[in-house]
Amino acid sequence: MRKYLLSTFLRFLPKRRQTLTNNISFTCAMANSKFEYVRNFEADDRCLPNTWIVVRIDGRGFHKFSEKHEFVKPNDKRSLDLMSKAASRVMTEFKEICLAYGQSDEFSFVFKRDTDLHKRRASKLMTCVSSLFSSAYVFHWPQFFDIPLKYPPSFDGRVVLYPTTQNLRDYLSWRQADCHINNLFNTVFWALVLKGGLTNSEAEQRLSGTFSSDKNEILFSEFGINYNNEPQLFRKGSVLIRCKQKKGEEVEEGRINKEIVILNEDIINDSFWIKHSILD
Ligand code: ATP
Ligand code: ATP
Ligand code: MG
Ligand code: MG
Repeated sequence: MRKYLLSTFLRFLPKRRQTLTNNISFTCAMANSKFEYVRNFEADDRCLPNTWIVVRIDGRGFHKFSEKHEFVKPNDKRSLDLMSKAASRVMTEFKEICLAYGQSDEFSFVFKRDTDLHKRRASKLMTCVSSLFSSAYVFHWPQFFDIPLKYPPSFDGRVVLYPTTQNLRDYLSWRQADCHINNLFNTVFWALVLKGGLTNSEAEQRLSGTFSSDKNEILFSEFGINYNNEPQLFRKGSVLIRCKQKKGEEVEEGRINKEIVILNEDIINDSFWIKHSILD
């Protein structure tokens, strides 16, 4: 295309100018071939075929970001909803993503096992996902927050390959278990600080060495909170899947757009996977 444009351009130039431009074009071609070897320095980072590709993004320095933007502790629903909104934009753009799971400031995107998007190049997939996620988070921010952004947030990204479906299921279970452990800790921690009047370090000291059962007990006996009644969104995180809308079908709860549904369900047990058969 570029060659065609250049030759068309040259045809309409006066003769004298053409000689000059021919020289420039010749020099450019020489320069191009002289420099082109640097292409070989690019590493081949294509992901192994027939493996599940997971791209996980995570907010950079969100501990500070959440403080500066007055997030409600321990869980700011606005940010969680905004994270899911940004994730749904990523899934809308990249149809090869079959599922996404998010909690706190992170989201994992699972590409179909046989995807050939960007020739499975890890850096391409990772940067496309993390840059679109970041820009969507900023783009939709005013829909969720009244205060303006104080500075641009960013998200790091990584690619991990899982050879078996069981490995992938274990990965997703690991992220959901992490959500549960952190959320239980944060719920007690902030109850001790905000309702119990402890300082941050006193609350940390109080919780050091405690087990899940101890934390549940503190919540229940001191603050009247039954952890199991906390919102599923906080305890389970969010899983985004595609659902084909049938003709005349009611739009079900949690649906972000026609196609993408957001669920706050357990993904560790088999029942979710039997019901949705996403990885088959
Ligand atoms: P890094 O850059 O290494 O990821 P980080 O400060 O982002 O550092 P994380 O381990 O990713 O640390 O933890 C994210 C932190 O962001 C949480 O510990 C919490 O303080 C805050 N955070 C994220 N989402 C929310 C939310 N929805 N509500 C309240 N706080 C949140
Ligand atoms: P890919 O997603 O593969 O990168 P692309 O459409 O972005 O595809 P590029 O090879 O990156 O293709 O080329 C960028 C194109 O964007 C240019 O060919 C040009 O058409 C357009 N473009 C970029 N910057 C400008 C600009 N400042 N002014 C006008 N056109 C621009
Ligand atoms: Mg982070
Ligand atoms: Mg994180």
